[in-house]
Amino acid sequence: MLITFYGVRGSTPTPGPTTVKYGGNTSCVHLELDNGQDIVLDAGTGMRLLGRKLLTKHSPINIILSHGHWDHIQGYPFFAPIFQPDRQIDVFTSGESGKKLLCSLFDQMDGNNFPIKSEDLPSHNTCIYKGAESVLYEKGIKIVKKPLNHPGGGTAYKIEEDGITCAYVTDNELDPPYKLQTTYDEWVKYLHGVDVLIHDAQYDENDMPHKHGWGHSLISQVRQLAIDAEVGALVMFHHDPDRSDGEIDEIQIENEAHFKGKRAPAKSFCAAEGMQIKLSRRIAGGDTLIEIGKVD
Ligand SMILES: [Zn+2]
Ligand SMILES: [Zn+2]
Repeated sequence: MLITFYGVRGSTPTPGPTTVKYGGNTSCVHLELDNGQDIVLDAGTGMRLLGRKLLTKHSPINIILSHGHWDHIQGYPFFAPIFQPDRQIDVFTSGESGKKLLCSLFDQMDGNNFPIKSEDLPSHNTCIYKGAESVLYEKGIKIVKKPLNHPGGGTAYKIEEDGITCAYVTDNELDPPYKLQTTYDEWVKYLHGVDVLIHDAQYDENDMPHKHGWGHSLISQVRQLAIDAEVGALVMFHHDPDRSDGEIDEIQIENEAHFKGKRAPAKSFCAAEGMQIKLSRRIAGGDTLIEIGKVD
């Protein structure tokens, strides 16, 4: 499994001199499975560059959406494969709001907010909001869902191939003041032993109590979750728009000090555009080899 980050920023795109290192594009992560399936997690502005890469392939594309907030859908009109004649693009989402969410993805291409209407696209766009797991399973993609704690709702996904697992959990508030969809203990159980946990880590203590209830987690809470769930690698994701490269560098340094001597996670990273994580199964011992690189 190869994971490539195309957009790692939360809430709104943040181009500029203080975000060059980690990037300013909003949520979009590409998973390439060993069986050849392409999975795109969320359709934030990072999706534009990924689209250029996928133009060279002809296989179907599987887009899985966490929820419908702007920073998770705005890349779609600029995703080049949607303009490829007959290219098959399957969009998956979940839950009660699934249909509405998919509508927001396509409704933004209404001729007013975007010059081209979604119904005029030459590609084949299929929307699957009921029974996503079984449709994906038939394609050789195994997912397990969990409801997010987030205003308006949303879904976390755990993707597994040949025993290798990656969990995508954004936007999620581990300790919200509103009604919980998933408790902390349920998160620990759901995420236990995953090879890579990609988790919302938008806020620090300085953001509180003002932003309590906005739907995102504290960095300190995410660190604890990674320890409690004994994940292989933690990737902090959905960086706050006001977080500069220097500040994220400091979080990375603090991570290394925090996890030193702990059994898990073995590795931790602050997500950056272009970062790649390759996961492969070691034959002897059976544990997962986690290699970090950067896109060419
Ligand atoms: Zn978001
Ligand atoms: Zn959101």
